[in-house]
Amino acid sequence: MTRYFDNAATTYLSDRALDEYIRTAREYSANPSSIHRDGQKAKDKLERTREESAELLGIDPRSLFFTSGATESISIFFSSLLWLEPGIILTDKIEHEAVSSYWPILERYGWRIDYLKAKGGFINPEDVKAKLSKDVKVVSVMNTNNVVGAIEPIKEINEIIREKEREYNHRISFFSDSVQALGKTDLDLTLSGVDAASFSAHKINGPRGIGMLYLRNPERLRSIAPAGGQERGKRGGTENLPGIAAMKEALKEWIENREESEEEIKACNKLIRDGAEALGYRIISPSVNTTPYILSLSQSLPSEVFTRIMADKGFCISSGSACSNNAKGKSEGILEAMGVRADEARRAIRVSFSKDTKKEDAIELLKAFEEVKKNV
Ligand code: PLP
Repeated sequence: MTRYFDNAATTYLSDRALDEYIRTAREYSANPSSIHRDGQKAKDKLERTREESAELLGIDPRSLFFTSGATESISIFFSSLLWLEPGIILTDKIEHEAVSSYWPILERYGWRIDYLKAKGGFINPEDVKAKLSKDVKVVSVMNTNNVVGAIEPIKEINEIIREKEREYNHRISFFSDSVQALGKTDLDLTLSGVDAASFSAHKINGPRGIGMLYLRNPERLRSIAPAGGQERGKRGGTENLPGIAAMKEALKEWIENREESEEEIKACNKLIRDGAEALGYRIISPSVNTTPYILSLSQSLPSEVFTRIMADKGFCISSGSACSNNAKGKSEGILEAMGVRADEARRAIRVSFSKDTKKEDAIELLKAFEEVKKNV
């Protein structure tokens, strides 16, 4: 039996989402772009699902675009900048690679990338204020960090951006990768005021390969890949209707169960946090303004060695951020950007929870931590 603590990398597909996937695949098999009756039936289902998803997110359905995952949502946003006169992108060094991998190509086309500090995992709004010069056209700060779980002060950052917009009398676009926030924080896109955000279904027990892009003012973004004009020209390609319907169902299920399951997750997180600390592990995740779903700690073995030992004992944990191919060094760089010492970053592990994580499993994980500690 494996006990799964790698939910920030991906979650299993819930029965409810899978049932919806199968039902939609069977009932709506035509292409939503076809003008025959079956095509129009699929189109109706697509638009109904958009409305229901938008309602769950508290946004206007016209602001919601379905994509093949957060990576594509991010790609649509950042590649669209190639149409524009270049300027500065103000960001940080703790963004997911799906975002930061755009910097080299954008730099090649004249954009400049400027970095905010991320001490302890947090962006300081005062730093945003100081660095937001007239040439900044885009600010990119993620909502919830996937390595340590820090929740960024998005609302405060947005207020500063809008203040500067008024002062400079030009638009500044605020992008926030919100993958680790979906269903897990009180995400209020309208209130926080971001211009664009990315989401993924497979972090909330939905299927892989399906995601969403939020665009507050869709008319301002010109996609570089409109292809057949689907998703109102933002994301070309035949829509994955079963995936879209299953994502909506997964989101609904999360929201319905969140209050109850989060109590258990907080308890699991605390149990491991306190227990590991007592064993001499260093807790890297912040203690406030952090998601209970992610816990990053540093122990005495190289991350990969520790992760393998735990795997042999039947536990899935991560040596960093497995959503970026678990490649050695990537999350280490992110941790160092937060001020974590290089040797601690090399010994960092990530334990991540889902709505179905049980306290018994957390107790077993802690016991395994103790065994490893005794034997090294
Ligand atoms: N952004 C963050 C913060 C993530 O954790 C992930 C994880 O995979 C992604 C983006 C990419 O999401 P997707 O797998 O849907 O492309």
